[in-house]
Amino acid sequence: MDSVGRVTAGREGAEAPVSWLRAAGRGFAGRCPACGRGGLFKSFLKVREHCATCGQELYHHRADDLPPYIVIFVVGHVVGTGILLTEVEYDLPLWLPLTLWPALGLILSIALLQPAKGAVVGLQWAFGMHGFGGEAEPGTGGDAR
Ligand SMILES: [Zn+2]
Repeated sequence: MDSVGRVTAGREGAEAPVSWLRAAGRGFAGRCPACGRGGLFKSFLKVREHCATCGQELYHHRADDLPPYIVIFVVGHVVGTGILLTEVEYDLPLWLPLTLWPALGLILSIALLQPAKGAVVGLQWAFGMHGFGGEAEPGTGGDAR
């Protein structure tokens, strides 16, 4: 990290330091955290091996279960708050909340899962985690015998 808080680890041949917030934002938008131009995903949740634009290796990421946890946290709060507020404030017919809230929860979950994973990959890249920093992760079998 440089003197103004910009993360420099994990970058390979990039022009200027990228802040961790910008890297997460680029990942959230489905873009390469290094250059911001290449696509991050080759399918809905499958991250590309390398950026097609700048060549940044992306296979190091270990997003694992964090993106679903983030989505559950956010969607649970939005839907839970909506349920509580509408139940207290309005006298809705039963079919409406039984239709609205599960549908909203499903739509929000699907819509946020890829951006959440992209942001996690961007953060891992920005902080040089899991091999993004140029060093093999201990215990991954790289030089262990
Ligand atoms: Zn790139």
